[in-house]
Amino acid sequence: MRQLNSRLSILDIWVDPVTKVEALERVRDFLISGNRPHSIFASNPEKNFSVPKDPELYDCYKNADLLLPDGIGVVMAARKLYDAQIERVPGAEFIFDICEFASVNDFSIFIYGAKEEVNKRSAEILADRYPTLNIAGRANGYVQEDKMEQLVAEINDSEADIIFVGLGSPQQEKWFSDWSGRLNNIRVVQGIGGTLDTIGGSVRRAPEFWCRHNLEWFYRLISEPARLKRQRVLPIFAYRVMKEWLFRTKGEIGRLDG
Ligand code: UDP
Repeated sequence: MRQLNSRLSILDIWVDPVTKVEALERVRDFLISGNRPHSIFASNPEKNFSVPKDPELYDCYKNADLLLPDGIGVVMAARKLYDAQIERVPGAEFIFDICEFASVNDFSIFIYGAKEEVNKRSAEILADRYPTLNIAGRANGYVQEDKMEQLVAEINDSEADIIFVGLGSPQQEKWFSDWSGRLNNIRVVQGIGGTLDTIGGSVRRAPEFWCRHNLEWFYRLISEPARLKRQRVLPIFAYRVMKEWLFRTKGEIGRLDG
C-alpha cells in the first residue's frame, strides 16, 4: 500500500525517503500482498521541471507507489529541508537489487524497452549475473501502438511478476498509465529510462569514484554533452532549494521571535 505519510515534497516533485533496504521491502510487499501493478519511478531534479508541465506525467508521479531518491540533488534537498535520513537509491542500480530479490524469491521478470540488440544483450547479461533469475519474456521498446494489445497479451501470457519499462520519460510513465489496468499478473512496474543502454548497450555509467563522490551527474554531463540542455536545470534546482530553505528558516526565526 502507498505510504503517503512519509512522502516528502521537494519543490514541485516528491520523493519517498527510503534507504535501499526499505525500498526493497516495499517491492516485497507489492509482490506478496499487492493485487495490482505498482509503479516505481525515479525522483530527481530534472523531473522537478518536466513533471509539472505535463498533466499525465504529473498524475503518474503523484500516484506512484514508490518514488526512488534517484538523484543526489533530491537527496540533498530532502536532507536540507526536512533533515531526512535519506540515501541515494539510483533506479539504474535498483533494477539489479530487484533482479537479485526476484532470483532468490522465485519471482519472474519481463524486460521491455530499448533497441532490439540492447534489450536482448541486457537479458543475456542479467541471466548470466543471476543464474536462477526467471526471465519470462522481453520486448524491444519500438513496438508500434497498433501492436500494443499483442505485447500486453504476451506480457500476460508470460505470467511475469515484475516488468522493467525502459522507454525514457515520459513515454514509460504514460505506458504505465495507459496499460497497467490490463496487466493481469504483474505486481511491480519499474520505469528504468535508459538503464538498458548501460547494461546491454554502449552507454557507460559513471565509474565508482564519481558515484561515491556524488558526481555521477557531472560525469554524465561531460561524457554525454548532448544532455547539457536537460542538466542546465541543476543549478536552478539548487538555487530554488536554498531559497525554500531560507524562507523556512526565516519563518522559524520569526515564530521564535514572536
Ligand atoms: N526508447 C524506447 N522506445 C522509444 C523511445 C526510446 O525503447 O520509443 C528507449 C531508448 O532506446 C533508450 C531509452 O528509451 O534506451 C531512453 O533513454 P534516456 O537516457 O533518454 O532516458 P532517461 O533515462 O533520461 O529517461
